[in-house]
Parts: sequence; C-alpha cells; structure tokens
Amino acid sequence: MQIDWHTHPFAHGEEEVEPCQNKNILSEFADRAKANSLSGLGFSDHSYYLDSFDFDNLIYIKNSYQDISLKIGIEFDYFPDREEEIRKIIASYPFDYTIGSVHHIGEWNFDHPDYKFKFSQKYLYDVYRDYYRIVEKAAESGLFNIVGHLDLIKIYNYRLADKKQELELITPVLEKLAQNDVAVEINTNGLNKPVREFYPSDYILELMGELDIPVVLGSDAHSADRVGENFAAALEKIQKFGLKRTKIFTGLKARDVLL
Ligand SMILES: [Zn+2]
Ligand SMILES: [Zn+2]
Repeated sequence: MQIDWHTHPFAHGEEEVEPCQNKNILSEFADRAKANSLSGLGFSDHSYYLDSFDFDNLIYIKNSYQDISLKIGIEFDYFPDREEEIRKIIASYPFDYTIGSVHHIGEWNFDHPDYKFKFSQKYLYDVYRDYYRIVEKAAESGLFNIVGHLDLIKIYNYRLADKKQELELITPVLEKLAQNDVAVEINTNGLNKPVREFYPSDYILELMGELDIPVVLGSDAHSADRVGENFAAALEKIQKFGLKRTKIFTGLKARDVLL
C-alpha cells in the first residue's frame, strides 16, 4: 500500500517552463508511480497556484487510470490568520485530501534560500518555538488531512544543540496530531536539502509511534523522476519506529489502513 501523497506536477523540471497542470505532465507523474509499483499517487500543487489549477485535467487523468489510484490534493501554505480563506477553498473544489504546511514564520519564508541568512540573525530556540507553535495551530485547525514536512525548520541544518529542547517543543504538536488523528508524512525530499535527512527526524518518528499517529509517504517531487523516491528507506523507518497506521483519503474522508 504505497501511495505518494505529496507531488507537484505544476512546478515540473528545473528548466524555466510555463507551469501548468497539463495532461502530459499529470500522466508522466502517474506513469512514474506505476513504474515504481506504487498503488497510488496524489497531485498536491501549492495553494498559491490555485487560480491556475486545471480541475478538468486533474479529473480526466484521475479517471483515466484503472490500475493505480489517483487523488486530487493541495498543499496549503498555512497562516493562522487565513483559516477562513482556506476553509472556503477546501469547500469549493473537488479535493480528496489537503496537506497543511508551514513555510512562513510571520512574513519570513524561512525555507526559501534567499531568506536563509535570517537564521543567523535570530535566537534559534525562538525560531523553533515559533515554528512549532504555528504547526500546532495547523494540527488543531481541522483543515488538513496531512501535515507536510513536520520539521521543515531544520532544512538548512540549523539544529538546536540539545535534542531534548526540540522534543519539548514538538510534544504538544504531536499531541494535537494524535487527538485530531491528522496524518504526518515521511517526506523523503529532505534528503535532497542541506539537512540531508527525511522529515521528520528519527526521534520524532519514534514519538509518533508511541502516540500511534498515522503516517503517509510523500516525495515532494517537483518532477516525475522523483515520484516515490527513497520510499523503501521510508518504509524501513515505519517498521523500525513502530508506526502502525496509514490513511487513504477520498473526497476529504479518511479511511484507516493498518501497515
Ligand atoms: Zn512544502
Ligand atoms: Zn511540497
């Protein structure tokens, strides 16, 4: 039961091309998922491209494949003061699932390379604390089926010296995820970033196992060749840390599946 829930057909390839959800690109992603023996794939382009989403094409491709389950999703950029706006968007389109991701602390787009320098201008503890407070709000908002790259704040490998400090900060987040039964993805794209490891870190996965938080897989592929990347290693972690449940999302309804 391997589904890649986090993919970006819209921003495909490295080259400067006009981004779009055309049928060829959507098919490339679906074909690659099939070639990698995945049982499913979700299209989850960024919410800030919503005006350019092509739901006709998404639905057409979703219905064109019988031997693989395709899903229509979206990765929201979560801001605590935009919950109403997000709620309206979710109600207005035929989504199977939603991913809530925190890429901003206030106005600071911390994962963007252009603003990386700000990490060295702040107290790192405060940065982690502020980040996890926002993720906690996303977890309890009731808006999202999946929380994306749970510890994205480590992207540039600015880490708290004491792991215990991060565990203290993330524990309330994990408790909210467990209470609301929100899934966390193992996002394999962290391996391609300066931090060079999956999101979330092993010590967080261990706590997730203890709290029986559901887990899903996501490559965060921005090109078809990365669909399903490093899922074998992610599955090993699922076993190692005693993660027992995944979820399948259809029309914003979640169904539990044992791993
Ligand atoms: Zn993201
Ligand atoms: Zn993404």
